[in-house]
Amino acid sequence: MAKERRRAVLELLQRPGNAHCADCGAPDPDWASYTLGVFICLSCSGIHRNIPQVSKVKSVRLDTWEEAQVEFMASHGNNAARATYESKVPSFYYRPTASDCQLLREQWIRAKYERQEFTRPEKQEPYSAGYREGFLWKRGRDNGQFLSRKFVLTEREGALKYFNRNDAKEPKAVMKIEHLNATFQPAKIGHPHGLQVTYLKDNSTRNIFVYHEDGKEMVDWFNALRAARFHYLQVAFPGASDADVSGAAVPLGVVLPSGGWCRGLTKGPPGPQSALPCPPRPREVTTGTLLDGARGRGAGLSRSLPQLVPKLSRNYLKEGYMEKTGPKQTEGFRKRWFTMDDRRLMYFKDPLDAFARGEVFIGSKESGYTVLDGLPPSTQGHHWPHGITIVTPERKFLLACETESEQRAWVEAFRKVVDRPMLPQEYAVEAHFKHKP
Ligand SMILES: [Zn+2]
Repeated sequence: MAKERRRAVLELLQRPGNAHCADCGAPDPDWASYTLGVFICLSCSGIHRNIPQVSKVKSVRLDTWEEAQVEFMASHGNNAARATYESKVPSFYYRPTASDCQLLREQWIRAKYERQEFTRPEKQEPYSAGYREGFLWKRGRDNGQFLSRKFVLTEREGALKYFNRNDAKEPKAVMKIEHLNATFQPAKIGHPHGLQVTYLKDNSTRNIFVYHEDGKEMVDWFNALRAARFHYLQVAFPGASDADVSGAAVPLGVVLPSGGWCRGLTKGPPGPQSALPCPPRPREVTTGTLLDGARGRGAGLSRSLPQLVPKLSRNYLKEGYMEKTGPKQTEGFRKRWFTMDDRRLMYFKDPLDAFARGEVFIGSKESGYTVLDGLPPSTQGHHWPHGITIVTPERKFLLACETESEQRAWVEAFRKVVDRPMLPQEYAVEAHFKHKP
């Protein structure tokens, strides 16, 4: 009998919706929450285990199943649970995948089942109100110490600000929502809730690193930033096609005016976006269907919304150490931390530096950009054996990786952008990089 019941549960995995984890989308889940009626992956089952008041988990293959539990799973399942627990997910809300950090996956699961935020929209106020203020631990630029700082996000002003003192009238920094990006970087920052926020100051990329001890607070901040960008993009680019928005909305739109590795502190001309007006707040949009469209599962209700959603925040294509040499290629190679942010390759002396030492734009093959395995035969001075040559219309960039797998991963990241045709806006960005003073 026990065997038959287990076989019955296994057969349920074949039903529509049950072949992927209900929470992160990983294929072939073989765990289940028999109180929520969902099939989930091993990793998500570990998170469910921490909220026993709402979820109790079993292995589909290893545990024994009671008749009533099998029936419960049969009458529920992932599609039914999605219709209930995800019925009102705001379109800007970040839905994690299997490759996202533990914090994002845990808070998504808690938001869905424990706090039921997506069945009761009034619980979404912390990230959908258009205004948020609170304290975050912010890494000091010079000493690397985390200090408590007041942050204020206001959609009305189109900015995220932080203050060095509670009673300070003037913010220490004003980060425009239009240029903002946020990405969780727990390993790099050394805290499981570590968030990297990138913005532009004087046309150069700036990083700040923050965290909050409370996981919900941190993810609420993250989604509040996404909501602010979503509302900004909706207003700034009404009816924009995907191509229009992707070029104008990302920080790539403003660049440094020098050739090759643009120096991090070079001041450039004001970016074209700075003249854009601060948008009024549009009506809230809440639907699960749109997100399905954004994830490529079925059509969205509106043409533009699913196209905006992927622009709200970006993860980097790749990060890690490589060795580099200078433009004369006689300077000797130095180990630097590299970040590939869409078409922008930046390098830093330290991964947590506030700004890049240099940046280079990587265009498409049609525009004369190539990525090659290896280094020119005459190259000297590198310690790491696995070379990469990036050819741009101006010059060659010589890089070296410690391992072959790192080299392969970097080449793959570079080819991703080289093989993609450039958008009209990206030609303007490229022009800034090409223009040597
Ligand atoms: Zn999962």
